[in-house]
Amino acid sequence: MSDQKDLVYLCCVTEGKLWLPDRNLPLIPRMQLTHWVEESFVIGHYDGYEIRYAFSSKSAAMREDFDSLRSLLHLPPELFNLAGRAIQLDHMRLTQRYCCACGGENVFDASHPAMVCNNCQTVHYPRVSPCVIVAVKKDGQILLAHHHAIKRHVHSDRRFCGSRGNTGAVRGAGSQRRDGN
Ligand SMILES: [Zn+2]
Repeated sequence: MSDQKDLVYLCCVTEGKLWLPDRNLPLIPRMQLTHWVEESFVIGHYDGYEIRYAFSSKSAAMREDFDSLRSLLHLPPELFNLAGRAIQLDHMRLTQRYCCACGGENVFDASHPAMVCNNCQTVHYPRVSPCVIVAVKKDGQILLAHHHAIKRHVHSDRRFCGSRGNTGAVRGAGSQRRDGN
């Protein structure tokens, strides 16, 4: 029987989505890692388990079952954040492929983690893109909006407040409605 040291959470990312068989983050035996991915990198720990990021799937069975981070909202926050970190690192790997100092090719280095230039050894850390989301609350309710560009009946907070087309609506606190009400 496997113990915690034999099992790892695998965060395999493709095109901004995670491999989520059975709609969950896979906890797999360490011995099977090479069956699923070319290589993987430790990016954190949760409840005694390693969290490993990978970007090179090997198995044909992994061509399906990729989904967005949103589908993992049921996870404990610490594990959810680490899964999100895997997506952020993958974004860095794809968008910082070349060195801005010499034009050389960068490679992912999990020891930082960052991208490191093969030519001049410059270390390129993930770009920070700060943002602020403001929740307008009053009397136990929160102001949500429906953006005109989103066809589905999804209401969200007012992050789109700088653009046109919002239809403001007061909803119950903490809710995100997917119905047409
Ligand atoms: Zn360079």
